[in-house]
Order: sequence, then C-alpha cells, then structure tokens
Amino acid sequence: MELLRTVLEITNKISSLKEKGFKIGFVPTMGALHNGHLSLINEVSKFSDYVVVSIFVNPTQFNNSNDLKSYPRDLEADKKLLSNVKCDLLFAPEVSEVYPDGEKILSLNLEGLDKEMEGKYRSGHFQGVVTVVKRLFDIIKPDFASFGQKDFQQLVIINFMVKKLKIPITIISCPIIRQEDGLAMSSRNMLLSQKVRTQATIIYQTLTQAKKLNASVSQIKEYICNKINSNPVFEVEYISIVDSETLQEVEDYSHHYKITACIAVWTNEKVRLIDNIQIK
Ligand code: AMP
Repeated sequence: MELLRTVLEITNKISSLKEKGFKIGFVPTMGALHNGHLSLINEVSKFSDYVVVSIFVNPTQFNNSNDLKSYPRDLEADKKLLSNVKCDLLFAPEVSEVYPDGEKILSLNLEGLDKEMEGKYRSGHFQGVVTVVKRLFDIIKPDFASFGQKDFQQLVIINFMVKKLKIPITIISCPIIRQEDGLAMSSRNMLLSQKVRTQATIIYQTLTQAKKLNASVSQIKEYICNKINSNPVFEVEYISIVDSETLQEVEDYSHHYKITACIAVWTNEKVRLIDNIQIK
C-alpha cells in the first residue's frame, strides 16, 4: 500500500492509472478505522481495479471544536488494518492540501435534506461534508465510491449531490456493521469507558424491539425515548421516523415505500452516538 500526502502526488498517480484504463474505487474516511470502514473497502474493491482510501478529519464538518479536538487519530493502527484489505493507496493529506484557499464551503443547495435530524443539532455539518467529499472526488476522480448506511442522512445527501451535480461516480451503499452485541461500529466508540460501552447496546436493542411493535409512529418514538432515557447514562437527542428518500418525518406507515428510524443519543461521557434501522 502506498501512502501519499499531497494533492500533486495523488493527481499524478491517478492520471497514470486512468491512462491504463483502471477503474478506481474510493472510500473517504476520517480514520480510527474499524470493520465498518473495512467493509466499505471490500465492497468497492469488487467493482474496481485500484482502491484509494482517504483519511482526513475534516474541520469544516465539525460544529463543535471539542469534538474535532477529541476525534480519535491513530495513523499507524489504521495502516496496519488497511494492510489486511485491498487498499492500494492511502491518501492522508493535511488541512492545507485539502483547503489551499482556506476553509471555503461549497455552495450547494441541499433542498432541506440538511435541515432534518443531524442538521437540526449539527448546524453546517452537511455543508462541510459535501464540501470535502466534492473536493476529494475532484482530486481522486473515482468511478465508484462507497458510503455506509450508518450515516444514513449523509448517504442520502451524497446521492443527492452526485445526481444534482451530475458527477459520473457510482455510489455504493453499504450496510451497518455492528459489534456482536449490536452496537453500531463507530470511531467514537473508542471514547467510551468500558462500563458505558457495555450499556450502549441498549440503543440497537431498543430500535429492534421497537421495529417489532405493532404501534403507531408516535407510540414507537415514545417507546424508544422512554426506554433509552430510563438509563441515566443516556439521553436521546432526537428520534426521527422518516421517509428514507425525502427524510421528511412520517405520520403513518402508508404512502411511504421505505421508512427509517434514526436516532442520536448522548452518553454521560459527552460522546454522541447515532444509529438507525429500516422499519419498512
Ligand atoms: P467516518 O470515518 O466516520 O467518516 O466514516 C467513513 C465511512 O464509513 C462513512 O461512509 C460511514 O458511513 C462509514 N461507516 C462508519 N461506521 C460504519 C459502520 N459501523 N458500518 C458501515 N459503515 C460505516
């Protein structure tokens, strides 16, 4: 696996691969890699001759400076994990490489998709995400790029951007990879104490139990909120039950082809966890 750190180096590399007719697969990440990330790499490698993974903790998508500061970073551990999968090139640029003209935000109207759920609590987050993903797409020019359903709203927004800007990249949507006890894998799980980590299984447990209830949308939301909040370690920030395409809250299950329940939960250790489950 090759490691490149500058835009000039990777641009040259990509040009020579394109000349040879290679199909390029790409997985953007913020590092602190786990099996969720590796599953995205395995999936994209099925379609590509050459796989690029980026590790870049993108400042423009953090609305909380403490969150940016405490975000886990361990390039050596990440390199080790990547040596077990088909990653041909690791791109790990500095902020000044990605944003040579300062942290300017891409001007793209997300038509309200960025105002729901995460958008209500992480102002500007998705504008930062589309800014960095568009910039990385422009540099790497992949044919395929994979994204995880763990960040469900992000996936919807990336698909929207690709369609709206007519970017010739196929987006591959990958299922959520979970720990054995059901907790969705996340780089932020590393920030949890063992005690809270063990109890965090309540999030997915409650979502799966709620999915089985024969109850109205509002009853399901109430059930999830009450159950998780009954453990003083956790506090639900939001639980939204939305149309999986428009991200609009649904009132009932009819008239919607696919429905997803999305949740954000704070732990008493100031770590924020998100998860979701398709309920129709
Ligand atoms: P991040 O490094 O958190 O920005 O995530 C990079 C990519 O990995 C995003 O497309 C995430 O949705 C995806 N991802 C993170 N965790 C998981 C998981 N547990 N299962 C599947 N994909 C994931």
